[in-house]
Amino acid sequence: MRAVRRKLVAGNWKMNKLRVDAYVLVEALTRSSKTFGKTEVVICPPHVYLDMAVSMTRGTCVVVGAQNAFFETSGAYTGETSPAMLKDLGCVYVILGHSERRTLFGESSRVVNKKMRRSIECGLLPIYCVGETLEQRRAGAAFEVLNEQVMYGLEGIDNRGLEGMVIAYEPVWAIGTGISATKEQAQEAHRFIRGAVERFGGRETAIGMRIIYGGSVTPENAAALVGQPDIDGALVGGASLKAETFMGIVLAVKE
Ligand code: PEP
Repeated sequence: MRAVRRKLVAGNWKMNKLRVDAYVLVEALTRSSKTFGKTEVVICPPHVYLDMAVSMTRGTCVVVGAQNAFFETSGAYTGETSPAMLKDLGCVYVILGHSERRTLFGESSRVVNKKMRRSIECGLLPIYCVGETLEQRRAGAAFEVLNEQVMYGLEGIDNRGLEGMVIAYEPVWAIGTGISATKEQAQEAHRFIRGAVERFGGRETAIGMRIIYGGSVTPENAAALVGQPDIDGALVGGASLKAETFMGIVLAVKE
């Protein structure tokens, strides 16, 4: 029997949009939010638009997440934003461990784990990204990489802390390339990740954990991907920047 896990579609805007464009996109999403059904819709704009996005989405089914957070609560960390600040602002989720943070900003698994723990402590729900590179997949090491990322990322977090958090399987080779994993490849990885979560936190935690797929998701491929038994939604980059394509994905996965 399939576990009841509420579908989640999250838009990672990355470093895109000026304020007026951000306003127009949030406004279009909130206007249509009544059509989204039971799906949880999350938008993750750049930090400078979070306050505006939280105000504009209040009272709708759209919730706001941040794209990053530091691992301390406050202090002399020029340019950083703490999870406590994001929570105080009204953010619900925070994307952590994204491959762009790992590769472009040198975030190690240890740093990502510290961010995970602090974010949970401050009441944010991480969307924790894992995924193998093409070289790792070709070398037959994908599952080993995924297992390590799950174990490192969740280290020190108890089952209560894991409640509500989300894992995003984002094969690095599928991010921003237009080449999505096939539904079979994605399902195989998701099932493996759920097994890793079970080894870490037990069966109940694994059954309740939402594991979403990210990597070149479009309105055309979303339904097939999210129709797989272990795929609980989508993390969307490029296609989240236009209301039409993002809503196309939300509506495609609607139950
Ligand atoms: C991402 O970077 O999280 C992502 C999924 O990007 P895209 O949808 O553009 O592949």
